[in-house]
Order: sequence, then structure tokens, then C-alpha cells
Amino acid sequence: MILKKSKDILSEYILCDHCLGRQFGKISISTNKRRGEVIRNFLKHTYPDTPNINYQSPCYLCENIFERTENIIDQINPDFQFNSFHVGTKIPKDILKKEEMLKDKFGLDYQEGIKQELNRELGKKIGIFLRKEFKREKEDITIIVHPYGSKIEYIINPIFIYGKYNKLIRGIPQTRWLCTKCKGRGCSRCNRTGKMYDESVEELVSELFLKEAQGTDSSFHGAGREDIDVLMLGTGRPFVLEIKSPKIRELNLKKLEEQVNMINEGKVKISDLRFVEKELVETIKNVHMRKIYRAEIDVCLSDNEKQKIEEFFNDKEIYQETPNRVVHRRADKTRIRKVYKVRTSKENCTSLEIYCDGGLYIKELISGDEGRTNPSIAELLGKNVKCVVLDVISIEEKV
Ligand SMILES: [Zn+2]
Ligand SMILES: [Zn+2]
Repeated sequence: MILKKSKDILSEYILCDHCLGRQFGKISISTNKRRGEVIRNFLKHTYPDTPNINYQSPCYLCENIFERTENIIDQINPDFQFNSFHVGTKIPKDILKKEEMLKDKFGLDYQEGIKQELNRELGKKIGIFLRKEFKREKEDITIIVHPYGSKIEYIINPIFIYGKYNKLIRGIPQTRWLCTKCKGRGCSRCNRTGKMYDESVEELVSELFLKEAQGTDSSFHGAGREDIDVLMLGTGRPFVLEIKSPKIRELNLKKLEEQVNMINEGKVKISDLRFVEKELVETIKNVHMRKIYRAEIDVCLSDNEKQKIEEFFNDKEIYQETPNRVVHRRADKTRIRKVYKVRTSKENCTSLEIYCDGGLYIKELISGDEGRTNPSIAELLGKNVKCVVLDVISIEEKV
């Protein structure tokens, strides 16, 4: 069957060994070139009169591209750091059409595409040429070859750095917050900065990394966030910093940590840095880690009230609708979170330590948010209570 079809094809078209072999590429394990040679030899014995049985350049299908792979590879000259790569090729439409036409005309059910063969051949050769690892996933870069257009493109995949941060001053948001009036273009309200706040944890942390890695952009993925006026103390909050299109991938994280901490002394501190895979971004965004908060309230609790609070908020489920103050930018839904323990202080009557699930809004747990949080400290005491100062003093370690 293979011989008969090959005879019919060659009677009409000139094909090189690669292209001849590839028309039956899914039949056996062998290189297409080798298969093409074998078919041609058999044909010489069985049907010696077949036209084009001796290959005469150029190949109708590939236009001899397989003879030019070395020239293509010579053009690959990346000026950035990477250890592994993947290859993609762009094949012109007229060549793909010819391939499709042969498949239909001669019923070539086992045909392999020219793109697959070129990807494979170029992948092997580029790996040897650059002494880098060819990978099908989690590769550092993708090399896009236009074999018929003498053009090479590079896609540099991002790097991901895990760490924890402490926020030591109030008044800065976690991430860059675009001006709500001009959406970042710059206007009179934001003083031409395009931002609501001059600084953010994101900017203070990522600037140096971005510069060092020579990336184009960065994203800061936090494991939850604290309000602008809330400190992040204790061992810190996990985050993943994503640097896009980095020219330098091998960063000295210890040194960068020290520099970031020196520049931002008294504001933001980072620790525990390490390189991670992309998957961790989703993981840290979706885990709700338990936390301990320290809150100052605007009323002085009696001993009786302290006792009441400690006894009541013991493994207690809290039903919380999205708070009034954020409902304009977050989905309005009811969440159920637990308060495990509330500890009052012997020394003063306005301090509370609250141990609870992540994702619980603490200011509303205290005030009740006009009945949107249930139960609440205000409701339990039967009076208005407000949180005036709030800090995260510990986040349970999970990632
Ligand atoms: Zn060919
Ligand atoms: Zn503005």
C-alpha cells in the first residue's frame, strides 16, 4: 500500500526523502528521512520506471527547507539568560495547503505535518547548538522560528519569586492602586501620578527586582490583603512576585532581600525569598490562612464584658455579608468564617486579640456593620463598638 501510494505521488510530484517519509510518518518509528530513503529503494526494485524516483531538487512540498536548518539556527542569538527552551515554527499557508492537498488526493491517513517534523528537528539541533535543554513544558523561553521568512522571535516566560512581607507603617495599600478618576492616565486629583497612593507594598518591593531582572513588567500576588490602615506584623504575609520577560533569571535573592529591606527600612520588610513555579500563584491566592489580629476599640470594656466576649467567641461561626465599605468593589455575598478565640487584655480595657479564619472582616466583626455581620461584639454587648486600630500580628504558615 505504501509503495503503491508512493509511486502515485512521485509520478506527479518531486519530493525529498523527508517529505516522502513524512507522508507515512505515523506508521512506524523511524526518522522521516530514513523512511523516505527506504521507500525510494524499494520503489527502485519494484517500480523502477516511476518518474522522479531519483530526487531532483527542489522538493515540491518543503522547498528544501530541511537542507537549510543549519542556516536558520545560525540566526538564533538570544541576548538573555535561560536554561531551557521550547520551539514553535510558523509555516506559510501555501505549504500547509499543498500538504493538505496531498493528504486528500492520495488518502494519506498516516501523514505527519511538516510543522511537527520541523519543531522536532529544530528543537534537537538548537539544543546542541545552544547547549540548553529542550522542554515541552515549564520552559524558560519559547523560540518561534519562521523558517521561510528568516525571522526568529523569542517569548521569555516569567519568573516567580515567593516571599513574605511585613508592612510596618499605616497608609499604604498592598498593590498599586490606580486613580479612580483618570484610571492611571494622570489628572488633577492624583497630582498627575495616576495613582491613589504614592507608594504601595507592591511598588516598594518589586522595583528593585524588576530592575535587576531587566523585566518589562511585574505582578504582585498576595495571600489575601490587609486594609490600608492595618499593619502586617509577625512572620509576615506570603506573596508571589511575578517578573515578566526577564533578561536575567538567576537573581541573588538574598542580596535583593537585603537591599529592599535597607531601602524600605521602617516601611516594608521582606523575607524567606525563593523561586517557585507559576502554580503557587493560584494556591496562595486561594488559601485562607488563619490569622491573629490585634484590635484597639473605642470603648473601655468592664471585666464582666471581657469575660462575656471570651466565653462567647469560642469556635464561633460568623455570618458576614460583604461590608458596606467595600461592597461597591467586591461581590456582595454572605461568607461564613470562624472566630476561634478572642483574648482580652489584663492591662488595658480597649485591646483585643482575635484568632480567626482568613477572609473575615475584623472591623465589621467588632461593629456589626449595621447587622450585616452576625454575631458581632457590638451586638453581644448591646452597644456601639468601633475598631480604631488594627494589626495583623500572625498568619498561620501553610505555603
Ligand atoms: Zn521536502
Ligand atoms: Zn488621576
